Amino acid sequence: MLFSVDELSIWLLYFVLPAAIFVAIAIPLFRWSGRRGWFGPLIIASVGIGFPFYIYPVAWSSQLIVEWIMNPQGILGGLAQMIALSIFLCGAITGAGVYAATMSRLVLAVALGASSALGGVVLIIADFPEWSLIAFYIFWQISVLTAMWWWAKGERIRRRADSGACIKCGYDLTGLRSPVCPECGDPVDPRPGPGRGAFGRHAKEMS
Ligand SMILES: [Zn+2]
Repeated sequence: MLFSVDELSIWLLYFVLPAAIFVAIAIPLFRWSGRRGWFGPLIIASVGIGFPFYIYPVAWSSQLIVEWIMNPQGILGGLAQMIALSIFLCGAITGAGVYAATMSRLVLAVALGASSALGGVVLIIADFPEWSLIAFYIFWQISVLTAMWWWAKGERIRRRADSGACIKCGYDLTGLRSPVCPECGDPVDPRPGPGRGAFGRHAKEMS
């Protein structure tokens, strides 16, 4: 790939920098959930850092698809449609990767929803300044990271409840008879064993 200095700096500023920031937030969020292992962080890093690179083959494929749908005779396809499809596909690829790491349908739904919404905005506005792409990207990232944070919070509580730890501070409550956590003073579900704590109680009622 050959770039002029301007194109390279736009590419770095618009895509590489935000992608690096996304990965730098998403991986600690993933670890915060209590999940261990290398698969999750690796796949988040691959799709996150990969985004500035797969945007080109995706844009190229989108152009072919849009031209094929809009103009079977090979006349030039619509630019807005091509960009909308590119945004949706890039968001779907990254969303699928984050879903593979978290197995959270909420994260997948938010990623696909934000991608569809941004694609729709591009179709409606059609003519937008180039810098707005970075605003679209940041909107997508904030949406997905918020969904990931929500998932990580639930995952963390579930893990603590399952292991018989205080869901607030993680203190091991095994064998304790106290109605409150001795570490942080949070009320404890008196029933022993798995399912202790607010989240565990809720999960039991649901099943
Ligand atoms: Zn506690």
